[in-house]
Amino acid sequence: MFTKKTVEDIDVKRKKVLVRVDYNVPLDEDLNVTDNTRIRLSLDTINYLLEKEAKIILMSHLGRPKGEVVDKFKLDPAAKELEKLTGKKVKKFDQIISEKIKDYIDNSMGFGEIVMLENLRFDPGEKKNNPDFAGSLASLAEVYVNDAFGAAHRAHASVTGVAEHLPAVSGFLMQKEVDTLTSLLEKPERPFVAVLGGSKVSDKIQVIQKLLEKVDTLILGGGMSYTFFKAKGFEIGNSIREDDQLGYAKKMLALAEKNNVDFLLPIDIVVAKEYDKDSDKQTVSIQSIPVDWMGLDIGTKSIELFSKQFSSASTVFWNGPVGVFEWERFENGTRNIAHAIAHSPAVTIVGGGDTLAAIRKYGLSDKFSHVSSGGGASMELLEGKELPGLAALEDK
Ligand code: AMP
Repeated sequence: MFTKKTVEDIDVKRKKVLVRVDYNVPLDEDLNVTDNTRIRLSLDTINYLLEKEAKIILMSHLGRPKGEVVDKFKLDPAAKELEKLTGKKVKKFDQIISEKIKDYIDNSMGFGEIVMLENLRFDPGEKKNNPDFAGSLASLAEVYVNDAFGAAHRAHASVTGVAEHLPAVSGFLMQKEVDTLTSLLEKPERPFVAVLGGSKVSDKIQVIQKLLEKVDTLILGGGMSYTFFKAKGFEIGNSIREDDQLGYAKKMLALAEKNNVDFLLPIDIVVAKEYDKDSDKQTVSIQSIPVDWMGLDIGTKSIELFSKQFSSASTVFWNGPVGVFEWERFENGTRNIAHAIAHSPAVTIVGGGDTLAAIRKYGLSDKFSHVSSGGGASMELLEGKELPGLAALEDK
């Protein structure tokens, strides 16, 4: 259950409301927004505030400008996209804070209007959670709303610092993300199947352990599976592996057995001669990876095996591609897994930057019950960690 106050629990009518959104959207070379999902996801909160005739002051980060002004990371494309989506003028400032901005908000801005500050990360104070920077941001408004789930795991000025100065509540997206992901862990419909992929075991250590306490079936694919194969004594050739995680992998295999979790690894593998998009490839069983080759995708038998799990599951959680899906020759596994999960009758929850890129690529973005907008934040929530951005908000 969500225990924090939301915009509905506080008086925002005709108030100056500072809203932290996550408009860290992908841009093309001409600075057009190529995927406006994150902006669309903020609309519930923005529309609610518009109804209440609030003065809406939006703030976000974009990219990694490292505390300096970098033209390609300016927020103008996001402001334009928001104008398209709301049909309302969005006044975008070229600075983050200034007397002029404050004066405009206090004296010229109308109720039910939207302004947007410049990229927060142009100021080094954002990431350092500088108290003066946070105080200046807060001085622009009367209420603070955090709807940036994707940044909730960062103790930055606009995420935690500001909340010390203003009544601080959650937006609707933050509420939905936290509600969905916590109830996934607290009371999942069973059978509960989780699929983890991606390149590294070390990134997902705590998640694997946590999921082994919760799921009925854990499927591992992608680069991280080879450390597990090696731990089981298989020859993995030149496949990516983390030798310092072998002990951990053995521990997890034992934990799965103890907890009665079906721990599924691929049974066949698409191997490549070299790490190259045009490399020679062949499909082999997991017992026969040639010594000089490396596994870059899962084979059709594995796809079949995993897909069966999705068709009989009631909850499916997926994070991480099961192969190098960026390369056409090695995307078959990830594409098929994406389709199989999308068409499963289960409640389906997906998250993670690469996973979102994959489902977008295959035109499946709207085919899941919940697509989490925050990769890092969703992982930390699943690991059972407290998100600083959430902790900073007022309790109900
Ligand atoms: P991560 O950043 O850990 O979520 O991993 C995502 C990346 O893992 C993607 O860019 C994939 O290309 C990569 N990946 C998936 N499977 C493999 C594999 N078998 N070998 C090497 N890289 C892989």
